[in-house]
Amino acid sequence: MRVIVVGAGVLGTMHAWQAIERGHEVVHIEREEQARGASVRNFGLVWVGGRADGPELEVALRARELWEGIGARVPGLGFRPAGSLTVVTNEAELAVARAAAERPDAAERGYRLLTPEEARAVNPALRGEAVRGALYCEKDAAVEPRPAQRALQDALRERARGRYTFLGGREVREVLPGRRAAVRDDHGEIHEGDALVLCTGAWTGGMVRELTGGELPVRRVRLQMMQTAPLDEELTTAVADADSFRYYPAYGGEALDAMAAAQSQTPVADRHKMQLLMVQRKDGSLTIGDTHEYETPFGFDVQEEAYAHLTGVVERILGRALPPVRRRWAGVYAQCTDGVSVVHRQRLREDANAWLVTGPGGRGMTCSPAIAEDTANSLGW
Ligand SMILES: Cc1cc2nc3c(=O)[nH]c(=O)nc-3n(C[C@H](O)[C@H](O)[C@H](O)COP(=O)(O)OP(=O)(O)OC[C@H]3O[C@@H](n4cnc5c(N)ncnc54)[C@H](O)[C@@H]3O)c2cc1C
Repeated sequence: MRVIVVGAGVLGTMHAWQAIERGHEVVHIEREEQARGASVRNFGLVWVGGRADGPELEVALRARELWEGIGARVPGLGFRPAGSLTVVTNEAELAVARAAAERPDAAERGYRLLTPEEARAVNPALRGEAVRGALYCEKDAAVEPRPAQRALQDALRERARGRYTFLGGREVREVLPGRRAAVRDDHGEIHEGDALVLCTGAWTGGMVRELTGGELPVRRVRLQMMQTAPLDEELTTAVADADSFRYYPAYGGEALDAMAAAQSQTPVADRHKMQLLMVQRKDGSLTIGDTHEYETPFGFDVQEEAYAHLTGVVERILGRALPPVRRRWAGVYAQCTDGVSVVHRQRLREDANAWLVTGPGGRGMTCSPAIAEDTANSLGW
């Protein structure tokens, strides 16, 4: 079979991976020279812990397994099973962490409630006096988002021996009617195969709107991020603050309600819908975020008060000054709006084997390997 994959973010690349693994030929088309969307702007967190019960957790656990296998074959991904610590700083937050650690599926999720001393034994950099304990999730992992897509493409090229072609700098403009799986790019070239998958991320306008009638059940979300100079010590796990309990579906229930009633977010965190997530890169620098902007049109600039808030939270947890910030950026992802779907798959033409796969939201880096596997299985690749 010949599979045409459009979009070189993690979702498209994982679909290419699945097709190559199953012995097919792949033509992989990307509008930019290289991936430039959410997949290179994210934390690189394979975040299993906070997932909702049911399909979302199942997909995340399967994806975690796949990432580990792919990571062993593609060292350039920088896969590491580092785990995460969600740090709590008072009784109300501790109660949410305790409730999570007492869930019936806590072992499956890799949860353990740690005292401050235990948390520091796992991650000695957490020297801040504010640390009252932490929810450890040993299933969480990390990859390096900036080089990941290139590393995967290189591995595909090597593995596929001529069956994988990457075409950067080509915008797909049209899915051709009356053909099984064919697109025309902005160079006027036609690429034809047996199956077509559009993994075009948060670009839901233009061609995607024309193909879907604009009725996609996804919304776009914009996040602000930053990266510091290298920290002069190892951050052995990813780190989150208790505001992250508010954003991940695994942490609902009485303890969370009590926490929300006892303490509102600071005005800045509330204004920008913030949580702290932090992960150390291979070069020692720290990727730190994030904010959530839901109203469109999005701002085109980044808001300094959000960064000042994050710096304060990190410094209280680490008990030291943050290294200077070297980079700031924003990214946008597409997220399913029905509250249950892990991803949105839609057939684009009744007469064609052409599919749009989008909307994995803030879990797209985590879940992509398993989402692509599901696509491949369901389409009979
Ligand atoms: C700041 C930020 C932090 C995040 N952190 C995490 C995290 O730590 N863990 C996690 O699990 N998830 C995270 N996410 C979510 C995750 O990054 C996304 O869900 C995921 O990257 C989406 O991948 P994608 O391939 O669908 O989209 P993208 O990475 O956006 O890729 C889509 C690609 O398609 C190309 N394209 C679009 N239209 C066309 C066309 N017509 N022709 C050719 N090419 C086209 C684009 O140029 C782009 O390269 C984060 C997202 C953001 C924004």
